[in-house]
Amino acid sequence: MKILISNDDGYQAPGIVALYEALKDLADVEVIAPEQNNSAKSNALTLHSPLYVNRASNGFRYVNGTPADCVHIALTGLLGYRPDLVVSGINNGANMGDDTIYSGTVGAAMEGFLFGIPAIAFSQVEKNWTHLESAACKARDLVLQMSSQKLIAGNPWLLNVNIPNRPYGQLGHVKLCRLGRRHAAEAVITQVSPRGDTMYWIGAAGASKDDADGTDFHATTQGHISMTPLKVDLTDHESLSYWAQTAARLASKA
Ligand code: MN
Repeated sequence: MKILISNDDGYQAPGIVALYEALKDLADVEVIAPEQNNSAKSNALTLHSPLYVNRASNGFRYVNGTPADCVHIALTGLLGYRPDLVVSGINNGANMGDDTIYSGTVGAAMEGFLFGIPAIAFSQVEKNWTHLESAACKARDLVLQMSSQKLIAGNPWLLNVNIPNRPYGQLGHVKLCRLGRRHAAEAVITQVSPRGDTMYWIGAAGASKDDADGTDFHATTQGHISMTPLKVDLTDHESLSYWAQTAARLASKA
């Protein structure tokens, strides 16, 4: 088995080091990750400046680009082979509900999925790296089980996994979830720069709005590991018929 690892927190982040250490004896593992923290870069690709790849002393390769850049160039020439699995993370903080739209951790995994390769995004729920080793052990368990159940060879899939920051023995089971929803983000934070200009800082993510039973928010609050299969098609299939009538009406008046 060949595994490509990336992340969005950067190649020096504790989460990607722990993930590599946990997976390195299961497969041929390569790490190609952003040089800098690229959290919330989603699926962004760098089109208007060149990308450079360097190798760190631990063997990880790092790129002056986004998470999706890393996976994209890995799969389109840099690796020279097709990995069986793309694994992203372990992220410093939750990627649940609406976070998945913005997440660079999910973006890296999704890039693999778009190339037809099974992919998993791993995140820890709290943003402080506590119990990172137990999260890495769970990531290893999951990859091992999927490999032994031949899930990695078939059709591609994209899984989003969030792991509570708990000791290994206190983690609940893996619970299949739908994404919850968050409230809109908190207000932008303004400050005045030393030169007198107003600076704007994007505010914190909103609190959970839909954290009902069955959501990732609910499962992780209960100590379980949430696992959500994601798709890329953003079409609102349920409203297609509604919009068909509306679109016909708009067309007739145009
Ligand atoms: Mn991140």
